[in-house]
Amino acid sequence: MPVRLSGMSFERDGERFIWSSVEDVSERKHTEVALLESQKMLQLVLDSIPVRVFWKDTESRYLGCNKLFAADAGLQSPEQIVGKTDHELGWKEQAEIYRDDDRKVIQSGKPKLNYEEPQTSPDGGRLWLKTSKIPLTDLSQTVVGVMGTYEDITQRKKQEERILHQAHFDKLTGIPNRFLALDRLAQLIKEARRTGHKVAVLFLDLDDFKKVNDSLGHEVGDRLLVGAAKRLGGVLRDSDTIGRFGGDEFIVLAGGLEDAADARPLAESLLEQFRRTFRVDGRELILTASIGIAVYPEDGDKPAALLRNADTAMYHSKGEGRNNYYYFTEAMNRGVSRRLALEEQMHGALARGEFRLCYQPVVKIRNRTIAGAEALLRWNNPALGEVPPVEFIPIAEQTGLIVSIGQYVLTEALARTVQWQQRRIDGFTISVNLSPHQFRDPNLLTFIERGLKQAGVSGKSLQLEITEGALMSGHPQVFAALEKLHQLGVRVAMDDFGTGYSSLSYLRKFPFDILTIDRSFVGDISMDMANRELVNAAIAMGNGLGLEVVAEGVETEEQLEHLTRKGCDLAQGYLFGEPVSDVEFSNRLADQFARQGSPYETAS
Ligand code: C2E
Ligand code: CA
Ligand code: CA
Repeated sequence: MPVRLSGMSFERDGERFIWSSVEDVSERKHTEVALLESQKMLQLVLDSIPVRVFWKDTESRYLGCNKLFAADAGLQSPEQIVGKTDHELGWKEQAEIYRDDDRKVIQSGKPKLNYEEPQTSPDGGRLWLKTSKIPLTDLSQTVVGVMGTYEDITQRKKQEERILHQAHFDKLTGIPNRFLALDRLAQLIKEARRTGHKVAVLFLDLDDFKKVNDSLGHEVGDRLLVGAAKRLGGVLRDSDTIGRFGGDEFIVLAGGLEDAADARPLAESLLEQFRRTFRVDGRELILTASIGIAVYPEDGDKPAALLRNADTAMYHSKGEGRNNYYYFTEAMNRGVSRRLALEEQMHGALARGEFRLCYQPVVKIRNRTIAGAEALLRWNNPALGEVPPVEFIPIAEQTGLIVSIGQYVLTEALARTVQWQQRRIDGFTISVNLSPHQFRDPNLLTFIERGLKQAGVSGKSLQLEITEGALMSGHPQVFAALEKLHQLGVRVAMDDFGTGYSSLSYLRKFPFDILTIDRSFVGDISMDMANRELVNAAIAMGNGLGLEVVAEGVETEEQLEHLTRKGCDLAQGYLFGEPVSDVEFSNRLADQFARQGSPYETAS
């Protein structure tokens, strides 16, 4: 046999690739015959593999393909494809896109791997393909075309879409859940910014609902919730949104308002819905609700601020005797003088060495070993004492001091990471929180790149946790920054998912690697059905989008067990350890190392 046929198959990134080559080992005079033979052999090989393969010339005309590909194109045999274009094969909509891809690969001489593209099937259906293209070269290494493979991922895409859909609606009442409602709020704000209209956020909480649950049982409580959701939904305009926020909390969003007072009739008719009694199991039940209203832009220009203020106003309504509604006012927020004191003390605090970092273990749920740590900032000031980060970070953010403080955090955290990695903890990663202001700092990337180099830490050891605020601007530079971080190997987490600081559209639009579920949901998954559903939805969404999911604030075995069952990857919380100093954290790692192989024991 004057031909040597070789081939191999290998896996990369969970993908199966098949290479085959045919080498002519015959005398020159046999070349033509051999080539013909080898081509037949090659075609046989290509027809026998479960991957679509095609190759085209520099004008994007097909030179050949395998049987599977021919079938997708509606052809009887691969030979029929020779000389045709995508347009001629009936892929009219996508022909331009495919041609652009071909051109990019041909002109750059570089492969383009594993990207997802839509296509129309011969019967007009919608397909999703995962495509890879590599340049096709001749013996002198001149690019003479492009060779591509693809896989039909329509089923996976459909399943993802289904999961995402399910993850957006409240199971009990069928109305949008917190995630979807927050997403709508972000959209309404965006729209209002363009049109100059106002958006009202009505936070509605049922009065004494806990009593209903406690005295009549959860089943009756659930039926009441379903009834309440139905009545509330009934009074909305088409453009309004209602969402279930948590146990007995609902949120109603009304956009396109001319005036803040336009939300009044809505609030009144929502309360009106409770004038009639609810009938459950032959019982007549009276239910009332309290409402707080915050309006964009006067009460906040971000979802988180609006929610917080609507919530504050709702509490005010409760305090004023319930079954009522109040607009948010600044007077409901106290503490202006405290703020000034914090601001004053914060200047110079870094130079005086008042900041330090604590580290909290992040644990792999699978085997309960430490996968890394989250660095958490602490501030101890002689005049103010220990100030919690939730209080001082926002001020550092507004004054811009966060940039230099954040640089201290990164440098310090990376220095510790090197030490801990030297203890041969495989793949130890450090998570660092970045606030929006830091993320917009034009020097951030150079600082990170230099910081990694100086510390001698690889990019993949660093995870940055950001919240929605960092992405709000929607500038192309945000994409560029994320892209650059990925090039450095740095992974990016969406922090506090579900709190109003994060929303679905960002999750889908930006290339996150990790999803962090906020501790406020995890905290009572064992008590509160609605929060359990939200946690389930967040995990399903994270998995559906191919992200690693971290649950925060895990305090009990029961919570952990639930998270394990739902397929959560990582956990953090007092069950495994509170944030501790670097020295204590080192001891903790040493312990784990001494017990190497044995499961990580919970903190005592
Ligand atoms: P975060 O990023 O959500 O951090 C997790 C918070 O949950 C920490 O609060 C942690 O102590 C707390 N925690 C952890 N496990 C449990 C648990 O099992 N139960 C409960 N109840 N809480 C738990 P901490 O340290 O007070 O930090 C609060 C927030 O301050 C952080 O929330 C983060 O947003 C911000 N922050 C902290 N350090 C930094 C920093 O260096 N830079 C920036 N920009 N923000 C920071
Ligand atoms: Ca965090
Ligand atoms: Ca968080």
